Amino acid sequence: MKNIDKTKPVLVTGATGYLAGWLVKRLLEDGLSVHAAVRDPEKEHKVHHLNGIASNSPGTIKYFKSDLLDEGSYAEAMEGCELVFHTASPFTSDFDNPQKELIEPAVKGTDNVLNQANKTVGVKRVVLTSSCAAIYTDAKDVHETPNNILTEDIWNTTASLDYQPYSYSKTLAEKKAWEINKDQNKWDLVTINPSLVMGPPLNPKATTSESFSLLKQLGDGTFKMGAPKIGIGLVDVRDVAEAHYQAGFTPSASGRYITSAHNTNFVELGEALEPKYGKTYPVPTKALPKWLLFLIGPYVNKSLSRKFIQNNVNIEWKADNSKIKEDLNLSFKPMQRTMEDSFQVLIENDII
Ligand code: NAP
Repeated sequence: MKNIDKTKPVLVTGATGYLAGWLVKRLLEDGLSVHAAVRDPEKEHKVHHLNGIASNSPGTIKYFKSDLLDEGSYAEAMEGCELVFHTASPFTSDFDNPQKELIEPAVKGTDNVLNQANKTVGVKRVVLTSSCAAIYTDAKDVHETPNNILTEDIWNTTASLDYQPYSYSKTLAEKKAWEINKDQNKWDLVTINPSLVMGPPLNPKATTSESFSLLKQLGDGTFKMGAPKIGIGLVDVRDVAEAHYQAGFTPSASGRYITSAHNTNFVELGEALEPKYGKTYPVPTKALPKWLLFLIGPYVNKSLSRKFIQNNVNIEWKADNSKIKEDLNLSFKPMQRTMEDSFQVLIENDII
């Protein structure tokens, strides 16, 4: 049971990120002093939204220059903190070298930040942003589980460097975190494992998250003929931020937390947008047949390999979110609201 002193600063790694932005906002609005570790604090376009929030909140923000790959670079940012939120990790499908661009920053970064927690006096809890990707790779994996449902007991055993390396990076990083945690008894580890995160970005012009790329594709005509009916989970970015906050400050929080609101599929995301935006934007409401995807998929998008289509299209996805609802008293926003609020930001910023 770890009580966190709210008068001490809290560290957020990757504070420029889509998800971290909402977490920083939550902390600042609660009056906390946030140590924001970012790659380049001088890049105004990456941090201006955080400065805006800070100037209207009771909390304060201080930036620290840190890189996941530079050993020791989180030392200064962590000084004085009892609570560390480690969110930084690359989330992109745009890579040439998965080892260098995904695995190394995810795993070495976790090693770097958590070993720093070992060295820094006073750290009591680390909340790690893991992912449902550390639990499964393909929707097909759901049906290999004992009750056809993903739970916190399950680990991803099917991702590799050659197949879905992002999922592999999250699996290896979370495993590394539990290993480091096991070898000490100074701080406890809680992991937040979100499914696909959607919802409005706080800094839409500079958001690099893969979530935002997928959202754009729902409105830019990529899927105007229909979308692959890929089984996925969905959760609102604001609820994921709240999950982190509760995982940090609830003394009894422990272990992994599946953070997923809706068992859904990619076509239903388009359907949620249809009533409000369907007349003006080419949002998908039809599922493309699997045979057609086999033919065109790999040419349309490099992520749509035949193996991926085989293992995900028209396959139901299901996860058990009862642990986080019970332990952290979390409730989730309806999917329609999440999708509409996200899409509105694209429109208002002339992104689609
Ligand atoms: P994002 O906006 O791209 O955030 C990634 C963050 O990681 C950025 O702040 C980025 O910094 C930082 N980062 C990347 N490489 C770094 C490095 N070498 N050194 C220091 N910082 C580095 O994506 P996001 O969606 O918010 O993802 C945040 C976390 O949530 C990640 O751990 C991701 O795996 C996890 N997650 C996301 C989803 C989702 O659907 N979005 C679902 C489950 C889990 P820069 O701004 O400098 O690039």
